[in-house]
Amino acid sequence: MGKIRLMDEPLSNKIAAGEVVERPTSVVKELVENAIDAGSGTVEVLLEEAGLTSIHIIDNGAGMDREDALLSFSRHATSKIANEHDLFRIRTLGFRGEALASIASVSKVTLQTSDGVNGTFVNLEGGRLVESRPNALRQGTDIKVEQLFFNTPARLKYMKTLQTELGHTIDLMNRFALSYPAVAFKLVHDGKTILQTSGSGEIRRVLADIYGVAIAKKMIPFEGETQDYKVSGFTSLPEITRANKNYISLFVNGRWVKHYAIATTVHRAYHTFLPLERQPIAVLNIEGDPYLTDVNVHPSKQQIRLSKEKELMELIHQTIRQAVGAAVRAPVIEEPKPKKTTFSPSSQLDLWKTSVTVKEPQAAEKPPYSSPVTEQEELEAAAQADPEPISPPQEYSSAVEGMEESPQFPELEVVGQIHGTYIVAQSSDGFYLVDQHAAQERIKYEYFREKVGQADAMERQPLLLPLTFHYSRDEALRLQDNLASLAEIGVFLEVFGDASFIVREHPTWFPKGFEQEIVEELIEQILNGNRADVKKLREDAAIMMSCKRSIKANHYLQKQDMEQLLADLKRAEQPFTCPHGRPVIIHFRTYDVEKMFKRIMN
Ligand code: ADP
Ligand code: MG
Repeated sequence: MGKIRLMDEPLSNKIAAGEVVERPTSVVKELVENAIDAGSGTVEVLLEEAGLTSIHIIDNGAGMDREDALLSFSRHATSKIANEHDLFRIRTLGFRGEALASIASVSKVTLQTSDGVNGTFVNLEGGRLVESRPNALRQGTDIKVEQLFFNTPARLKYMKTLQTELGHTIDLMNRFALSYPAVAFKLVHDGKTILQTSGSGEIRRVLADIYGVAIAKKMIPFEGETQDYKVSGFTSLPEITRANKNYISLFVNGRWVKHYAIATTVHRAYHTFLPLERQPIAVLNIEGDPYLTDVNVHPSKQQIRLSKEKELMELIHQTIRQAVGAAVRAPVIEEPKPKKTTFSPSSQLDLWKTSVTVKEPQAAEKPPYSSPVTEQEELEAAAQADPEPISPPQEYSSAVEGMEESPQFPELEVVGQIHGTYIVAQSSDGFYLVDQHAAQERIKYEYFREKVGQADAMERQPLLLPLTFHYSRDEALRLQDNLASLAEIGVFLEVFGDASFIVREHPTWFPKGFEQEIVEELIEQILNGNRADVKKLREDAAIMMSCKRSIKANHYLQKQDMEQLLADLKRAEQPFTCPHGRPVIIHFRTYDVEKMFKRIMN
């Protein structure tokens, strides 16, 4: 006799539950998605013990009639797709028709729903129907999931601490709120309100509800489109940064997705506006034909397969970079505000010290950019402190010659210099500190970026003695494959014997006295990279050269040199950050200074 038996439905549901119902957060996710798909304007989520004891969700959506209310708990029961073709035009968050069946199989569920005509009450335990009857309710759905995993104790063992579970759910609800600003969400845990949004439709208000008003004020709107895609959202001014990409929220047709390449593109749009290791806060909505955005690739529906990805990445990069570039200003030092003591939704993440959320540094608690100085720079600065020859700032003025003055850059009058490091300048709206080193790096970077981009028209200068370079054989082989890339940025390496190379001439704009060092560093970049990408090599070369012999800290400048530096800076394309993304200039507003001195009280 054969050994194979068909599983009954409750058993197969229990197994399938593993795919969609891993933890309380996944239950909340499925149920809130259902509420949104039902067109709800308000969605309330009430949790007890991070959802393990009870998850109660109330919406004011379309509701269900009696027949659907019972059917909804069957596996593969969905109102959202009818046939195979629909799979390619999914506009709803759900479509597999298995969430309710899976959730019901591992918990005790009470559903009350009404389509405005008939109300229905249904109660199930472990997936088996216990009771169903007519029931009065206003239009909408009220679903309560109790004792999650009561019949699958093994799964309970995988649960992390309640706080970790709750942290995941807060994170999830934040993303729902950001992608559906027109829906009023409320998240309550053990009687405490953790998140509440107004449903006003404004993303900036949701940002304030989640991250606080100070941050929301520093988010810049952006919008752009191609034939296939439309992107829009908000992204932070460079003075607001985070340590990881968790704060970049990506939505494709209203669905929160995780997509490494897109998040990296958002970060790349901040090139030279942010220190490399810092990340922006961003909300990015991508809209495109569902045909181009396949969501049916993973049970959690969080991964997505995109067509025309390159076009989309280019659109995202350009749109965000342009918006940020147009909005950067000198970061403002504000009067420190007293710390909040009362509970507010924006302190939600502090309250539940969870593993997934990072403590929000309040803008007022510490100045932006708290770690500008690396050990390496301190060492460099110390090494260059005095007897070295210093290039006068004017040397690179030609970089910005003929450039228009930046309209966002203030009209500055030099007051003096402090610590041989910062230029103090004033304008009608307060005073400014300018980091002289960062300022010159920015000017030189723009100069070199232009120069290395014009290899054909480069004037070259012969060296009296050729420079020689020796490498191991495998390195030499790799270099030989990349001679053309080096030539494109003006370095003409000739093979000389077995594993040696010589350079007989160099572009006239190479920083003097650093020829050997620069060629070595460029070769190093080729050897470290797997393949030479000329665009990146150019960029790296420009940044590297801009650091050479920039006026360092502890160097006293003449007033006229300072004036020249500020005039050059004003004509830089992006005067506010150095090529490493650190700020060049910081603003102390008259208003804030007067408040600090208590000359004005409010
Ligand atoms: P899916 O969302 O993939 O269709 P579910 O198991 O999550 O599958 O839900 C099954 C069906 O139950 C849905 O297609 C929908 O018709 C109905 N439904 C579930 N939740 C709600 C709700 N909150 N309001 C209205 N209808 C709902
Ligand atoms: Mg669903």
